[in-house]
Amino acid sequence: MSPLRLKGRFANAKQINRKKNQLASIARRNLSKEDEAVSSEPCIDGRRIVEPAVLAEQMWCNACQLPLSFRTAEKEIRHGLSSTFKVRCHKCTLLYSVKTSKEHTNPNTFNPVQDVNCKAAVG
Ligand SMILES: [Zn+2]
Repeated sequence: MSPLRLKGRFANAKQINRKKNQLASIARRNLSKEDEAVSSEPCIDGRRIVEPAVLAEQMWCNACQLPLSFRTAEKEIRHGLSSTFKVRCHKCTLLYSVKTSKEHTNPNTFNPVQDVNCKAAVG
């Protein structure tokens, strides 16, 4: 019997089974997020914490040199207290990602982190 491997390293069956369960869980979670985004029509209901300067800078179509409108927002992706809206330009139909908060990179994981979430947690 050949030894089992996980990402090029030797692994036992328990470790491989745990990794399969993690991947299945992530796939299920991603599917449920997509369902929520599609079912939450219209996506701009409710209240948000926004950084007006960040929002104002991004609500602009660079191709048309025209402002974007939340009336043409198609989807919202929530990241804790901040959001990313997918807003389509009404003239050229380009799709823009509009973030409600600045973000920085976590030095340990290199993942993007929204400033508003850090400030809410730290105070
Ligand atoms: Zn445009």
